[in-house]
Amino acid sequence: MAVETAAYAEQTDIQRDITEMVRQFVDEQIIPNAEKYDHEDSFPEPIVEQMKELGLFGVTIPEEYGGMGLDLTTYAMIVEELSRGWISISGVVNTHFIGSYLLMKFGTDEQKEYFLPKMATGEIRAAFSLSEPEVGSDVQGIKATAKKGDDGSWELNGQKMWVTNGLGSGVVFVLMKSDPKADPPYKGMTCFITEKEPWKEVNEGDFAGLNVPPKIKKMGYKGVESTELVYDGYRCPPERVLGGEEEGVGQGFVQMMDALEVGRVNVAARGVGIGQRALELALRYSQERKTFGKPIAAHQAIQFKLADMATQLEAARLVTRKAARMKDAGERSDLEAGMAKLLASETGKFCVEESFRIHGGYGYSKEYEIERLYRDAPLLLIGEGTSEIQRMVIGKKLLQRHKI
Ligand SMILES: Cc1cc2nc3c(=O)[nH]c(=O)nc-3n(C[C@H](O)[C@H](O)[C@H](O)COP(=O)(O)OP(=O)(O)OC[C@H]3O[C@@H](n4cnc5c(N)ncnc54)[C@H](O)[C@@H]3O)c2cc1C
Repeated sequence: MAVETAAYAEQTDIQRDITEMVRQFVDEQIIPNAEKYDHEDSFPEPIVEQMKELGLFGVTIPEEYGGMGLDLTTYAMIVEELSRGWISISGVVNTHFIGSYLLMKFGTDEQKEYFLPKMATGEIRAAFSLSEPEVGSDVQGIKATAKKGDDGSWELNGQKMWVTNGLGSGVVFVLMKSDPKADPPYKGMTCFITEKEPWKEVNEGDFAGLNVPPKIKKMGYKGVESTELVYDGYRCPPERVLGGEEEGVGQGFVQMMDALEVGRVNVAARGVGIGQRALELALRYSQERKTFGKPIAAHQAIQFKLADMATQLEAARLVTRKAARMKDAGERSDLEAGMAKLLASETGKFCVEESFRIHGGYGYSKEYEIERLYRDAPLLLIGEGTSEIQRMVIGKKLLQRHKI
């Protein structure tokens, strides 16, 4: 049951056409098949192949490189629709989108020409790697290193953690410590564009020294793999420093934090999408299930739940679109992206839990879709910065903007 979100949808004709197209794809291909892939925890290859045909890997990549050349706002609308179907599907494109953003904003011409056309078609997918076994929130604490060798290449060593698309990707944008003595540490960090063989656990030849341990077993967010990555003497040519050696060495932290800003809008859109689906399921179930001689939707307590879900969802959608539009307009949107990520991920989780309660005992059964949503939603509270970290970002930015 699709729910009309708002009479005043604020969409251009292109945005309306593309979101309708994606919604139809989600209703026909993703929702009916998500349960199978979730249950098997297997990669949804046929769905991903269709996404390539629809051009969904190149939404924001400029047309000159074979993409659609659309903006972050349109991308956020697409992510919302995909996440309404299954957040793992948006997971397949999200780190890819962040990688293409990094290239478009900071890459050299050669880097753009080499990677973007292949990324626009989905021929290769991108992963984005900051986290390590001992470091997530405190990115300046990473330990993996990059050392310049006599032959001019960089030797990468260290372990990365929680890499979405870690196995299936053909390129990983990875943050390394290139100057361990830098003070503050962020000035000694560099982003390397590391190529690898997709779906290969042990790489050889030019990519030797980059290995992928077995995927991490998770409570939800199945289908898309999360892995560790082990860099063990991997040689990265100097032309694969993001932005080139001259411009890029020591800039990795700033580049990655910039990318996280759009990544946060991206996660916010996923929160809205999963919340939307939870509301749809609740609206349907509450009109079907009867207690005390009437549909549970006729009980005011249930109506209040539906009202709170729909209201919070609408607010989350608006703040997400505002953050995206500000970024598209070239304005600073770090505060708004943090607010969107915080509100929308918490709202997504809230709506899923309320819908779960409305489903009563059946919500606990694998026969009902809400059970999968209940396992998927908590990820949004963690990825791209936890809710605690968002509050820290928002508080800091507020004080900077309103310094007395
Ligand atoms: C399924 C999944 C996919 C992921 N994909 C990626 C990916 O593709 N690439 C990538 O780089 N990372 C990825 N991550 C990692 C994710 O970004 C981190 O898990 C997240 O940033 C939190 O880091 P942490 O797990 O190390 O928690 P920690 O940083 O150890 O935090 C633990 C707890 O302490 C709180 N906390 C930490 N510092 C403070 C503070 N100063 N004040 C108050 N509270 C604080 C946190 O909010 C949290 O509640 C993924 C994670 C998951 C679960």
